[in-house]
Amino acid sequence: MAESAESSKDYFVTTVNEDHATICWGCGLRLLLRTHAPVFKCGWCGAITSQNVNKTETKCLWGRRLQDRCFVTILSVFMLFLICGGVWAVHWFVFSVSYTFGIFHYILTAILAATTVSTFSLSAFRCAGTPPTLLWGSYPVVGKGDLKNYTFCHYCVKPKSPRAHHCRSCGTCVLDMDHHCPFIGNCVGAANHRHFIAFLFSAVFSTIYISFISAYAGLHIWPPVKYRSLGHLNGSGRDLAIRAFKEVMLALVSSAVQLSARGLILVYLFVSSVSLQIGLSVLLWQQLCYIYEGKTYLSHLSSQGSGGDHIEEKGCQNIFRFFGCPYSIFRYLPTLRNSPKRHTK
Ligand SMILES: [Zn+2]
Ligand SMILES: [Zn+2]
Ligand SMILES: [Zn+2]
Repeated sequence: MAESAESSKDYFVTTVNEDHATICWGCGLRLLLRTHAPVFKCGWCGAITSQNVNKTETKCLWGRRLQDRCFVTILSVFMLFLICGGVWAVHWFVFSVSYTFGIFHYILTAILAATTVSTFSLSAFRCAGTPPTLLWGSYPVVGKGDLKNYTFCHYCVKPKSPRAHHCRSCGTCVLDMDHHCPFIGNCVGAANHRHFIAFLFSAVFSTIYISFISAYAGLHIWPPVKYRSLGHLNGSGRDLAIRAFKEVMLALVSSAVQLSARGLILVYLFVSSVSLQIGLSVLLWQQLCYIYEGKTYLSHLSSQGSGGDHIEEKGCQNIFRFFGCPYSIFRYLPTLRNSPKRHTK
């Protein structure tokens, strides 16, 4: 690296002013810089060098990995409970409605469970996306513009493309990194982003179905609610409404304590599935908005930080492209091949 730098000429310099010389990490050429320039770009290979490297590890890697594995285990057990507990809690009910409804319920449950578990496994255990390996470090090997806008990852000790980010939890650079998700214990990147979105879709549909079937079965198993006569309530306006509300809540609680274990599980299934449904729907909506804008979560943050000067093309074509639709459509419609590509996964 140093040898090639000494043999090089100084016309590969980007910012020539004073006599401050340094070495480009990308091609190994010697560059003359303006004094105290913290960040510079090589005029030959295009690599960006930052002289203010702040490499700080706040937590060891194995600690982060252990934390991720714990989250994944807890989530897997919870999913297993939702599936098995849900099947057990409503089994008596679905066949009491009709035999056809029972069969339909079991087919739908099997499809939703298989889809959710498989997409979860793919997004959790599949590599999120490894940036391509490039040759770097010496002038004859690195051609002009080969490392354009590449930076150097001091953790991985290799070039980092403009579309890659280093994840300190995974301890590696991830291509098109969206975010590090603690619940799947993995990064969401170019290789598993589609699986993650499929998991969110599947989980949202599953929780909608669980809340529907647990509410439907729970209404049949709920003990009769005995109200005290509301006629003795007197007063007017707000005071009367508060008293009536208290009376109704008291009647509901007194009937809820008579619920069987199956009934309590149904209540738990309903409450937890509705809570999950809300959280997952918000996350899915946010993800679809970023895909529609042709961005990832991290590129959205960086575009905000840079004042939004890099404007991406919004549109449904980003969503189609994300899910791989053009590859099947373009085989039949070759004239659409020239449409601009922004969000490539
Ligand atoms: Zn260079
Ligand atoms: Zn890295
Ligand atoms: Zn990560």
